Amino acid sequence: MTTRPTLALITTGGTIAGAAASKTDTTGYVAGSLGAAALLAAVPELGDVAELQAEELFALDSKDMTPAHWLALAHRVRARLDDPAIAGVVVTHGTDTLEESAYFLDRVLAGDKPVVLTGAMRPATALSADGPMNLYEAVRVAADPASAGRGVLVAFAGTILPAASARKQRGELAAFAGDACGRIEAATTVRYFAPPVPRRPAVALPATLAELPRVDLLYVAAGSAPDLLDAAVGAGACGIVLVLPGNGSLPDYWEEAVVRTAAAGVAVVRASRCVGGTVSARSVDERLGTRPAGRLTPAAARIELMLELAAGAPQS
Ligand code: ASP
Repeated sequence: MTTRPTLALITTGGTIAGAAASKTDTTGYVAGSLGAAALLAAVPELGDVAELQAEELFALDSKDMTPAHWLALAHRVRARLDDPAIAGVVVTHGTDTLEESAYFLDRVLAGDKPVVLTGAMRPATALSADGPMNLYEAVRVAADPASAGRGVLVAFAGTILPAASARKQRGELAAFAGDACGRIEAATTVRYFAPPVPRRPAVALPATLAELPRVDLLYVAAGSAPDLLDAAVGAGACGIVLVLPGNGSLPDYWEEAVVRTAAAGVAVVRASRCVGGTVSARSVDERLGTRPAGRLTPAAARIELMLELAAGAPQS
């Protein structure tokens, strides 16, 4: 007889916990209306897979998630992982900013135990709600020994993605895409088809850290005004991620403001507007005082810079 692992389930709100007045209403719902007990009650089959210890951490629409919530979430997940009785953690989360929480957790949590985030595109009250199956599959992933040592994962609509590349790209049930590393076949079989992504050491944040330094993302469209930079720095930003066209091309009319900002000691990162875009180091970085985001999404580049500033040293 195989023993079921004990997993922690941490709920944070989102559409997966959303409730509407009617079963056919898939937009006019309130995210985060249902607690952990209601999510579990919708999937009694979970009991065959794992012993779940559930708790409600937040009841948020994830559009309202902030870096302070990331810190609190990381603190809680770490506490559960530190419990020798817990084999892994599943986090339910709104889809709008799920990729940011997943990336943050991936960078600050050490160890091999699986941490899996999931959510839903339809509220829990909808006909054919996708949350119960997504939750079931996420628990399957967290319970599977092959998920160990893969960092934080996103399990969504049958696909498993490493946190580093997961991105909400569509408004449909299969909302997340990226460099998928596996699938959940027939709802029950976890199949990895890519090796674990090499991970850098987790960032050790000061234990007393109450908030992360402010880093702003500025989306540069054709004709966007460079005085956005001054506005961000004037409002207290310690770092800026520019979300630039193509492979991180900076318009000529932004150069003066960027040079001035970087020279004043505010880190400026060049990221790409393109989905899957890569920004590599170029001579322009030396001239402007900028640095490239590499393969990081703009949101991940922002988190990386926040962590670097918080830790007080570059994260290699
Ligand atoms: N606004 C919702 C949220 O992010 C959307 C969702 O969960 O799909 O909480």
